[in-house]
Amino acid sequence: MEYVKSKVRDVIDFPQKGVVFKDLTTAFKDPRALHIIGWDLSQLYRGKGITKVVGIESRGFIGGSIAAFELGAGFVPARKPGKLPADTISCSFDKEYGKDVIEIHRDAITEDDVVLIHDDVLATGGTMAAAYNLVKSLNPKKIYINFIIELSFLHGRDLLPADAEVTSLITY
Ligand code: AMP
Repeated sequence: MEYVKSKVRDVIDFPQKGVVFKDLTTAFKDPRALHIIGWDLSQLYRGKGITKVVGIESRGFIGGSIAAFELGAGFVPARKPGKLPADTISCSFDKEYGKDVIEIHRDAITEDDVVLIHDDVLATGGTMAAAYNLVKSLNPKKIYINFIIELSFLHGRDLLPADAEVTSLITY
């Protein structure tokens, strides 16, 4: 992971003043870093019976798709409002820099599913807490949560359910 860490770019004051943005595009474009991210993420969840990986728009689509492919699971996009074409459920939440809404298709998850929800960065936790609530409302057997990067100084885990199994590949 030290190699991946060396490929993450800090962008100061993006998208607004005071935010240090952890830019993973510089890791995703590096073949070795992308391979390590995909491999390590998948290794954490092999043998856990994951049937669906939910990736959060848009940077969560990258690691989420790789994990789904590697784990032999299906991929489900959690998207910004108005993007998904069929019947959706939605949840609003506060972000580190503003408010937002997230949606998934109502038929994306069933009670037989074991779900991994993936996003690139855990900041204040609002995005993942909303995604967790959406998935939970569809009653899957179990829900796991993963991030590539966790910004532990923002205490995002405090917003996630206490019983949720959460992993991060890199913690700052
Ligand atoms: P939050 O809801 O505060 O945990 O924010 C997480 C979402 O916003 C993720 O989808 C990230 O892609 C993005 N995000 C928030 N803060 C940052 C940051 N400092 N660096 C990179 N991405 C961030």
